[in-house]
Amino acid sequence: MVPLPKRKHTRSRTGIRRGGQPKMVLSNLTKCTSCGKLKENHRACPYCGFWR
Ligand SMILES: [Zn+2]
Repeated sequence: MVPLPKRKHTRSRTGIRRGGQPKMVLSNLTKCTSCGKLKENHRACPYCGFWR
């Protein structure tokens, strides 16, 4: 018999885990320094082809 923990962490911490924090998906968007449109960071700009 292994004693099971009643809860791993408090309710507030569970809330953080369940969608409390936004995913990092959209955070790597940055403005193109050449044309000013939103593009993915560290990627070539799809509008003007400017890299970085
Ligand atoms: Zn651009």
